[in-house]
Amino acid sequence: MVQGTLYIVSAPSGAGKSSLIQALLKTQPLYDTQVSVSHTTRDSRPGENHGEHYFFVSKDEFRRMIEQDEFLEHAEVFGNYYGTSRAAIELVLSTGVDVFLDIDWQGAQQIRAKMPQSRSIFILPPSKEELGRRLRGRGQDADDVIAKRMAQAVAEMTHYAEYDYLIVNDDFDLALSDLKTIIRAERLRLGRQILRHDALISKLLAD
Ligand code: 5GP
Repeated sequence: MVQGTLYIVSAPSGAGKSSLIQALLKTQPLYDTQVSVSHTTRDSRPGENHGEHYFFVSKDEFRRMIEQDEFLEHAEVFGNYYGTSRAAIELVLSTGVDVFLDIDWQGAQQIRAKMPQSRSIFILPPSKEELGRRLRGRGQDADDVIAKRMAQAVAEMTHYAEYDYLIVNDDFDLALSDLKTIIRAERLRLGRQILRHDALISKLLAD
């Protein structure tokens, strides 16, 4: 069985990362591509479901999972804890399915160190003005809240050069096509193709 590829996707809030990953998943069958559901200690937002967007757990439960070495990576992001469960990822990858991790730069560093065969993608917004517009959202937040979000976004973006691929999300459809192209190219790499087409290659080369 060909192992699936683990893709790390990071971006500042406002770059459109979640929308891109969701749109990508709609174009790929479940037996090809899945997204990992993280554990977090933050409260759920309206419309978020336990087990679908996140596994919402208490700080005590999160600490227990760290002690039992249940996370492939975990990090504190904006005052809350987030982590990727090791068992879920390894099981899915072993069945040949590609797995996407929507995680921050700290988690990306930990995964790269543990799984050098993973691939990482950073998504940038098209301009600072557009990022500001997206971070302002419905325009109901105070200036200092927006300034803090912008500072957090810039802090995340300083890590862009640690990634294998860089996508600028100016035109959504183009950015989605870029994402699909990366996956397609990775699936065509020689090592994976040899494993996938082992029988065909043997027959073609037989006398
Ligand atoms: P939010 O709370 O807005 O859903 O996510 C905040 C940030 O935490 C995002 O940048 C997201 O990518 C990151 N994040 C979500 N899940 C994980 C995870 O399991 N590990 C790490 N390191 N970061 C995560």
